Amino acid sequence: MVTLEGKIRVPQAQREATNAALVEHVALTRAEDGCLFFEVVPDPVDPEGFRVREAFLGPDAFAAHQSRVANSAWGRLTKDFQRQYEVSGLDDPVSDDETWMAKALALADAASAVGEVPVGALVVLDGEIIGQGFNQPITRCDPTAHAEIVALRQAAQAQSNYRLPRAVLYVTIEPCLMCVGAMVHARVARVVFGAREPKAGALLSHPKVDDHSINHRFEIVEGVLGDVCGQRMSQFFSKRR
Ligand SMILES: [Zn+2]
Repeated sequence: MVTLEGKIRVPQAQREATNAALVEHVALTRAEDGCLFFEVVPDPVDPEGFRVREAFLGPDAFAAHQSRVANSAWGRLTKDFQRQYEVSGLDDPVSDDETWMAKALALADAASAVGEVPVGALVVLDGEIIGQGFNQPITRCDPTAHAEIVALRQAAQAQSNYRLPRAVLYVTIEPCLMCVGAMVHARVARVVFGAREPKAGALLSHPKVDDHSINHRFEIVEGVLGDVCGQRMSQFFSKRR
């Protein structure tokens, strides 16, 4: 993952034009393939500054962003503004798990767009998505409509099989007890999640399913794009407060 953090200083005379161009710039960047996080906010301690924070899946997505911006209205307007940026992760290769998690993250965004807690999930089999879902218990009036359940249902339908023995489930947030139960029933091979859920997480935070009570175990991987997945949750809840 490539991250950038820093400041841009806007000359007073350009302030209005910059504010006007910023909305489009943010929307276009967030819609870019491989953009995981993008935020430009007024600097609380510098009236002429903006703070910039961005995260891209990998060097290619970051380079594509840079070249798009250079030729955009925003790029032309801010070309000579003073900047102080720190970029890291430019040499980090992108793993398959990260690529899938980025897609789960886009599903989490679909949840928050309709006012649901931002959790997204994917079921992948032999390098193909066979099920996907986002959290939607409120919109569906369905307490079981968690991202993982929606994705598992779709996957099982696609396979015409209630067992998904070689499948990998990707989810942005550590699953709850209900979803862990469903994963056991589905016999998935592997579960990859982003950030831990300290309250309701039932895989590592509060493991409830022990080896004696079930006859299936799966591999667990945590922390894939974990910071970004967790950030989506904290952003969502801070906006609601
Ligand atoms: Zn759940």
